[in-house]
Amino acid sequence: MKNILFIAGAAFLFSCTNSNSTKTDAANSESKQTASAKNSAKTEDTKPTGPAADAATIMARPQVPILCYHHIRPDAKSEYAVTVDGFKAQMKILHDSGYHTVLPDQLYDYLVYGKQLPSKPFMLTYDDTDEEQFSVAKPEMDKYGFKGVYFIMTISIGRPRYMNKEQIKQLADEGHVVASHTWRHDRVDRYLTTPHLDRDSKKMIANDWDLQLVDKRKQLEDITGKPIHYFAYPFGIWSKAGIPELKSRGFKLAFQLSTKRDPEEPLYTVRRMIVPFQWSPEGMLRVMKSAFSRSE
Ligand SMILES: [Zn+2]
Repeated sequence: MKNILFIAGAAFLFSCTNSNSTKTDAANSESKQTASAKNSAKTEDTKPTGPAADAATIMARPQVPILCYHHIRPDAKSEYAVTVDGFKAQMKILHDSGYHTVLPDQLYDYLVYGKQLPSKPFMLTYDDTDEEQFSVAKPEMDKYGFKGVYFIMTISIGRPRYMNKEQIKQLADEGHVVASHTWRHDRVDRYLTTPHLDRDSKKMIANDWDLQLVDKRKQLEDITGKPIHYFAYPFGIWSKAGIPELKSRGFKLAFQLSTKRDPEEPLYTVRRMIVPFQWSPEGMLRVMKSAFSRSE
């Protein structure tokens, strides 16, 4: 699926959303980006106990840039991967440029209650439980006092090249946020919201919400000892029908990738940006600024 967006007059493939998706034309886009200055969030100095903002107010608040990483490997060659050196350079330039990581609780209080964020806020997110997100990303974040959000697909916990329970627990203990990414990375618009033939039982079932989210959230809560309030859609693909399901199960924010937010449900269509391996640190910073300055 293509998500073709227009930023600063230059068309580029902002990111991808599933395994059949297109390659990001990052090298082309990078040279065409013009920096947009709106990167620091205006906030109101209100306490998070006041009335909750309506959807229009939330949509109007400046977006916090959110980066999404998958693999971090020396031989990165896909849009789902960055090189180790590239990742290190990206963390360094973010730090040297004065950026501060924020976590989902802070983002929620900002969006809903207008609570103030640190200067130059951004969020680091990691999808799919890859082991190098612990062994490579965490030490780099530690250098700069950054904290990240780890969206875990629970089926892969403890498998080769994926994080194990102890690593996930350590992340939570050290102030990173562990969050849900379903059990086995099934699309919300197919398996979680529509009747389908169950792969194991071969019976028709209505949906997988309780299996993939409630049961697996409990597994993550048992590992971390902390409540899980946040969710990322597998492949970034969200579904309008899924939003009431997430709300009724107590999720406060849901993160997609790069499609437009739903103006009625901005808390459940929070946008993120995949960083492809071709981008220079400077190019990444330019795209990050411009991509999140749009109001959509
Ligand atoms: Zn994923």
